[in-house]
Amino acid sequence: MRKLDTKTIVVASHNAGKISEIAELIGPFGFSAKSAKELDFDVPEETGTTFEENAAIKALASAKQSGLPALADDSGIVVDALDGAPGVYTADWAEKPDGSRDFMMAMEKVEKALAEKGATDPKDRTARFVSVICLAWPDGHTETFRGEVEGTLVWPPRGDKGHGYDPVFMPEDYGRTFGEMETQEKNEGRPEDGGALSHRARAFKLFVEKGLDR
Ligand code: IMP
Repeated sequence: MRKLDTKTIVVASHNAGKISEIAELIGPFGFSAKSAKELDFDVPEETGTTFEENAAIKALASAKQSGLPALADDSGIVVDALDGAPGVYTADWAEKPDGSRDFMMAMEKVEKALAEKGATDPKDRTARFVSVICLAWPDGHTETFRGEVEGTLVWPPRGDKGHGYDPVFMPEDYGRTFGEMETQEKNEGRPEDGGALSHRARAFKLFVEKGLDR
């Protein structure tokens, strides 16, 4: 596996929350983050059909524009009874005609699709959050790290914390949704989760353990 051996990394995102989360994560290892927004780079359209492809499309575009290693993440929720939907289209399901995002509407769409399948029993409502991080170099080399967390979808939504689909996702063995957890608990879970519960925390843990040259 090729490791990150430069001290500056480009974060291929215009999302301020994502950028600061990544900067905080790599800072303790002596790496600093520059964002695609700060560098005024284009973040390309996500035309892939897998999380890996979309993360690589974004990371490669920023690596090529900057001449530096770049990191991107792509995430979403995969519902078994819906054959993996919304999957890579998770954000699209929340999009309104005016371009804004409405996650209550997105959660209702998922619920309606599950109701159409008669999926009312928790065992028929299994899902997982997926996060794929791609580290790309200007020469086209890529390394990817995948984090997943298994759970069940509940209805109605519970809790007002978190974002996106958090209020309907109950991680396995927890009895509470991500929407009912403080950020720290959502990220780290219990000691038996090894310091990472959420899909994103698990992907970042792999990136830090395997992708950094320390
Ligand atoms: P992207 O990775 O920014 O392209 O979008 C992924 C989509 O999945 C977003 O619209 C999020 O709302 C949703 N998503 C990803 N991770 C989470 C999470 O931790 N909680 C709730 N929703 C999430």
